[in-house]
Amino acid sequence: MRVCVYGAASPSIDPMYIEAGEALGRVLARCGHSLVFGGGALGLMGAVARGVRAESGHITGVVPRFFENDASETLCDFCDEYIQTDTMRERKRIMEDKADAFIITPGGIGTFEEFLEILTLRQLCRHEKPIAVLNTAGYYDTLLAFLNEAVDKGFLKATCLSLFTVTDDPHTLLDALECTSGDGGNVHTYKEG
Ligand code: AMP
Repeated sequence: MRVCVYGAASPSIDPMYIEAGEALGRVLARCGHSLVFGGGALGLMGAVARGVRAESGHITGVVPRFFENDASETLCDFCDEYIQTDTMRERKRIMEDKADAFIITPGGIGTFEEFLEILTLRQLCRHEKPIAVLNTAGYYDTLLAFLNEAVDKGFLKATCLSLFTVTDDPHTLLDALECTSGDGGNVHTYKEG
């Protein structure tokens, strides 16, 4: 599978997250999967790419041109394929189109947006690709609690929360992605009451 991984750009995070990202990358490549990601060299993005690279996996970086002119931006310099885009939106679309599955690792607002967009599109049956959250050290527990609160208050259908897997173990996560396929539900199954 070509797996799109979303995750933190920030390097100012606890090293345990970096180690978990590298471990995920190594497992991905060892299981024969390739990586599609945002092309950053730092944070979780860089960590996952280094892990994939260590096991000789294939890496596609999708990067907007404006990052290249940004002196503060550090891009991954060992991608096998490097796709340039004009905008962040185009970049997200290409990442979505190129991937067969999605993994969300710990991150900030960029990662939250990517997670919620890919989940929204899944809920609206715009794709049937599996989604999994790597919940290292319970990082996403509070977001998941909030999503459950949204269910309790009627803003979200409980079935929406069944559209992704949550685990802190890369092997369990990949098993879930490999076993999950579209179930033929429609918009009403996941969104409307
Ligand atoms: P954040 O979680 O806010 O650190 O944003 C990281 C996510 O947004 C990644 O999954 C990327 O796809 C995208 N992104 C945001 N900032 C960058 C960056 N500086 N370099 C590459 N990708 C980025």
